[in-house]
Amino acid sequence: MKTPPACDSAVSTPGLKTNLLGLGEQKLIDFFENLGERKFRAAQIMKWVHVRGVTDFAQMTDLSKSLRERLASIAEVRPPEVVSRSDSEDGTIKWLIRTDGGSCIEAVFIPENGRGTLCVSSQIGCSLDCSFCATGKQGFNRDLNTAEIIGQVWIALRELTLPEAAPNNRAVTNVVLMGMGEPLLNFDNVVEAVNLMMHDCAYGLSKRRVTLSTAGVVPALDKLGDVTDVSLAISLHAPNDELRDQLVPLNRKYPIAALLDSARRYLQKLPDQRRKITIEYTLIDQVNDRQVHARQLAELLGNTPCKINLIPFNPFPGSNYRRVSNNAMYRFRDILHEAGYTATVRTTRGSDIAAACGQLAGEVNDRTRRSQRYRNEKVNNWQPVNIISG
Ligand code: SF4
Repeated sequence: MKTPPACDSAVSTPGLKTNLLGLGEQKLIDFFENLGERKFRAAQIMKWVHVRGVTDFAQMTDLSKSLRERLASIAEVRPPEVVSRSDSEDGTIKWLIRTDGGSCIEAVFIPENGRGTLCVSSQIGCSLDCSFCATGKQGFNRDLNTAEIIGQVWIALRELTLPEAAPNNRAVTNVVLMGMGEPLLNFDNVVEAVNLMMHDCAYGLSKRRVTLSTAGVVPALDKLGDVTDVSLAISLHAPNDELRDQLVPLNRKYPIAALLDSARRYLQKLPDQRRKITIEYTLIDQVNDRQVHARQLAELLGNTPCKINLIPFNPFPGSNYRRVSNNAMYRFRDILHEAGYTATVRTTRGSDIAAACGQLAGEVNDRTRRSQRYRNEKVNNWQPVNIISG
């Protein structure tokens, strides 16, 4: 394991040029049409940037020399900066990535049999303050922009294909928005990024292989199905409102029944009616891991098309919770199996580099009252800012 150096507060000045890394197809078409160029330039640029990983316009040889020079004067392809990389003994890789403004986020690559899952962040910190999550304890700085979200995929692909990357030289086959932040509170930037992940001229991942995980911002979830068909995971973690109010404070605003109704409406909007949501349930010793909780969960989910992912709590400094015992965990799973559900236990990966679920912390500047302000504005009064079409 390599130990990461601290993310210092050296701030790179954000470019004044348009960063094409963060523009989806329609925005790129608009950009080129404003320059008097044909719209197929958008697809050309997307392939150079996302498929080939090229940031220097001079190398984009199917563009005319004059267009390349013009682009160099007004635009850039600028991924966020990797501060450090930590390699776990089990093959998991964590990158500490500096954003404009100096705060750092984390992205994690988890190689498994036949697949490689990249867990990306959507915000710097998180305002929702779930009691079992290290990210929530870091406070909140700001939403990531689209370039910073898709930039994590861009970085992982480049790093994983470096010659020195072997034996972790594996493709990113799946992306999960389960890192730092609540994706639905950063709606437009997240939708733009996931649509790039699934675009044939960018990363070409199937909708089944890109998963957005939410703690349950119900009005935003109700909009999500209008603009994307990404796979959905619900961070549930409790089978009743009383317990979920303690673990996921957002539940006081959007309780379980409203959340599950919204999730079912999302599924109904998808063209393929066989798709399921993933229910994530972090098992915490003596808190939500009892047999009665498993039976309540089975009853609660009723006719919801879903599979259940059980995640043993991963301790982090400052938390009083303990990891579930193996006995309690497998008993919990078996009760769900007996009730007819598909329930799997997520293997803990990367805990030696603090890259396991719930351990991501990054380095978040400004922990003052920004969380509270943001919560008041975004959670209590969620409004679409600029809903992206298709
Ligand atoms: S679990 Fe997710 S929503 Fe809750 S504090 Fe952590 S990052 Fe935020």
